[in-house]
Amino acid sequence: MSVFSAFARRPWLLPVLFGAGLALYPVIRPYDIYPQTVLLLAFLLAIQAVGWNIISGYAGYVSLGHSVFVGLGSYTAGVLSVRIGLNPLLAAPLGGIVAVVAAVLAGAVVLRTRGHAFVIITIALLLATQVIAVNWDALTNGSDGITLPLPPWSRDIQNVPFYVAFLVLMLAGVAFSAWIRRTRFGTGLVAIREDEGKAASIGVDTTRFKITAYAASAFFPGMAGAVYAYFLTFLNPVGAFNVLGSVMIVLAALVGGRGTLWGPVIGAFVVSISAELATVYGGGAQSRVLLFGGALVVVVLFLPAGLLPVVQAWWRRRHPVAIEYTDQGGALSAGRYELRPRVEPVPVEPGPVQHDVPLLEVRGVTKRFGGLVAVDNADLTVPRGSITALIGPNGSGKTTLFNLVTGTMRADAGEVRFDGTRIDRLPPWQRGHLGLGRTFQLTRLFRSMTVLENMVAPMPDGRWRTMVADARDGREAERARELLAFVGMARFADTPAGALSYGQQKLVELAQVLMTEPKLVLLDEPAGGVNPSLVARLSQIVRDLNAQGVGFLVVEHNIPMVLELCDPVVVFSRGSVIAHGPPDIVRNDPVVLDAYLGEDWSDGASPAVAEVLK
Ligand code: ADP
Ligand code: MG
Repeated sequence: MSVFSAFARRPWLLPVLFGAGLALYPVIRPYDIYPQTVLLLAFLLAIQAVGWNIISGYAGYVSLGHSVFVGLGSYTAGVLSVRIGLNPLLAAPLGGIVAVVAAVLAGAVVLRTRGHAFVIITIALLLATQVIAVNWDALTNGSDGITLPLPPWSRDIQNVPFYVAFLVLMLAGVAFSAWIRRTRFGTGLVAIREDEGKAASIGVDTTRFKITAYAASAFFPGMAGAVYAYFLTFLNPVGAFNVLGSVMIVLAALVGGRGTLWGPVIGAFVVSISAELATVYGGGAQSRVLLFGGALVVVVLFLPAGLLPVVQAWWRRRHPVAIEYTDQGGALSAGRYELRPRVEPVPVEPGPVQHDVPLLEVRGVTKRFGGLVAVDNADLTVPRGSITALIGPNGSGKTTLFNLVTGTMRADAGEVRFDGTRIDRLPPWQRGHLGLGRTFQLTRLFRSMTVLENMVAPMPDGRWRTMVADARDGREAERARELLAFVGMARFADTPAGALSYGQQKLVELAQVLMTEPKLVLLDEPAGGVNPSLVARLSQIVRDLNAQGVGFLVVEHNIPMVLELCDPVVVFSRGSVIAHGPPDIVRNDPVVLDAYLGEDWSDGASPAVAEVLK
């Protein structure tokens, strides 16, 4: 037990011991050629599984042809060593670069869209590369393959340099993966896996993130491929671009735990060593195929998360953390919050409501779902500096209008301008970078991330520098904690968002949107499901932010809150605006009462609701 807790308190200790042990092994026993071979093949598989994990574990886009990158690296080294006599070890960085270029080209074609096309393309890339390697005789020597020069060192220690090279690449690959996971880029990848639409709405350029992740996942396998070619000394297209190799990568990552840092390494050792045992004791290559097939089935059925997450879950069960509740007292007594600018501020000009200056203009926007016209030629203006309300019965198209404005959906017709820029053709993240933020009627936090990770996932701009900035340290994380304190959720910074109550999630989602320094926030039923005692606090938050220049467009059924907080009020019915103006005018408009209460309202059918409106 005490050994366990020693490791639990120092999470780096186990990997360091592991790396040191592996590094010392060939020093102590340099002539153990066979065990070294088994281990270095495990390192090679680990390098690939760790790379695969970046695009397929973090971002959730499964690559089934990932061995193509080792093949490309191998061929790069093979061709260069035969043509110009370059040592394959020196060719390794070039192997990495060739793999990255291939990933960017394939990714740029297929990763612009969402979904399953990617899986198919990854297999196609592997097979197409094999066909090219067979047919481009002049470069690759076709099916006859390439024979590389033998290494110059003594045969007695023939494997040691390869062992060291693969070990170094494996540890560097893990370090690279760990670094990615700490950056906003890595947080964004997990965000894409969890909810790609939501990620785009908070400024994550999903296309660029995915292509970059695919490229990053190819680099270390490409380098390792060059070393592998030297190790094999013979390359042919069928061996280098092999589907079974890709299956092993997926299996390794699934066995160990995809999306975790060390899972792919653990899985690679398990898979690689069992494959070796199967070959030795089980009768060769046939038994490997059976073993992998069987293992895949067992893992998917009984261990869907992989070994590492299962062990971690067991550990957490033995060391439970107490459940906490929203710091309502803290939130209610918190004073005025001063919006603190981001590290490089984009100034938001505060000021009074300027009814004549529009911040958001919606003109003639229409959206049909089959025969249903959800938004029907809608016109709406949000004045700069205002808290504008959008009210209307359920199903009148308010959420759909939000989706059209923020780019979650494309309008069939019409025009949307934001702060003078036409935005209806822009992808959602660019609208986010311009200063448009939103919350969702049913909150869409990234449930497997902690609250703090949720807070730092938004990308306030599209710069590479912002992308590679550390997500959890520094001023951004500090701002995140302040905003969490502001909404009464600071204590939950390290809680997984999925463990929060519905109302708590709403508060975090509001704080999350504020991270991008929006000029306009669209709130979709912010008070729905929130503890009534917090509703007043919520109004105060909105008013505070508004005083500092943030505009709001609020959809809300809590009519007293709307009438007290918002001006102007826009009334929506059946997809278009039926009334707008100051709350007083709208409150007494018979058309509005009719829309809300149906034809019979004047007969006193629902006096209570009519009373609320009055
Ligand atoms: P509100 O937010 O005002 O309650 P919505 O915008 O959610 O209304 O819905 C307006 C209408 O559009 C409803 O009839 C709803 O069923 C329909 N609708 C909304 N989203 C979709 C969708 N993705 N596919 C088909 N119909 C939809
Ligand atoms: Mg709605």
